[in-house]
Amino acid sequence: MWEFVRGIFAAAEKGPRDLVGTFAAMSVTLDILDTGPFGEVLSNVASALESIRADGDDSMGQVAVMSTTEFDVEVGRLQREIASERGSAGLPVFTPERLGGIVAGKTLARALDYQDVTIVLNGNLIDWSNPQGQVSGLAILAHELGHVAIGRARYASGVLEGEPPPPSVTGTEAARSLARITCDEFRADLIATSALGTAASVPLDDGSTRPATIYDLVGSRHSDCLRDVLAEEVYPGWPDTVDAYRTYQIDLEELIRRITLSTESVLSIVAHAEAHAFAGRVDRPLQANSELRGAELYVAPAWDRLLAILARRPPVPTTLSEVRALEDHIASEGTAAILQMWKRLGLTVEEHGNRRWAMRVSEPMR
Ligand SMILES: [Zn+2]
Repeated sequence: MWEFVRGIFAAAEKGPRDLVGTFAAMSVTLDILDTGPFGEVLSNVASALESIRADGDDSMGQVAVMSTTEFDVEVGRLQREIASERGSAGLPVFTPERLGGIVAGKTLARALDYQDVTIVLNGNLIDWSNPQGQVSGLAILAHELGHVAIGRARYASGVLEGEPPPPSVTGTEAARSLARITCDEFRADLIATSALGTAASVPLDDGSTRPATIYDLVGSRHSDCLRDVLAEEVYPGWPDTVDAYRTYQIDLEELIRRITLSTESVLSIVAHAEAHAFAGRVDRPLQANSELRGAELYVAPAWDRLLAILARRPPVPTTLSEVRALEDHIASEGTAAILQMWKRLGLTVEEHGNRRWAMRVSEPMR
């Protein structure tokens, strides 16, 4: 178990001391709503993280992990709590259903520094009572811990300094946030797969074994769903939504809301499907669907630019300057990729300074 958690932070341990400190400052407090094997597994993770922390510096960070069958209720409660602490207004009700399945875990940070984080695992989806369930539970936990590592590294890199505080207001801010969310999902899946490789192996025909990957666990689940998403949600869905505004069926606010939400869910599926395939060394799912209009016109040009950024560096680089370079790249090139995708959809973002902006709407490409 120690090796498993260590695998997640292995990259960080090679880095300079300030980055090591950032990652090492992880203690886990247990808030166990489910009893049984889950408690035992988490206790092991907790002591492993505690020992890493003892090796590091004194800066305190806290990651609370809980698994609950009341997943959506608990996530909703925490989201409202954090929003009210930040003084931000009403949030949409949290629902665990997404394109491609049910959310298995959620990482909630109290602040941008990711020093006080709660990871909520969906107790309805993880069966800690058997080895198979434990392995998939560990992959989910590693993915969520990956978000913590990425979030801390991003904050420590300084890339957020000078940026307006969340939530996003302008179109460019929304595109930058979506670029980060999409890249984070890909990166967290790669972190999960390297953690999984240290915890589980797959027997080969010649009697030897190889490290398990996330593809061994989930296979092509996301790729299968991606095809339907591209053939409905994206096309004709996206241009139809833009035309609904152009024919006075919805207002501009609703158009922006729908396209932003859908961009997030579609690109998240793409990120997971592509990360799983990357880990399993099988063909890229988006390329396999390249004949679909939704892929060709909209999703592939944007994702290819994001993947080009991600393919160049490890999911969490080992030095702060490399983290900074990756984050700068995501913030500039990644944001541009999403703005360009929207432009093809007839949606052009104009920034007017002081967080004032406009969205020009024209005929979408079909
Ligand atoms: Zn995630």
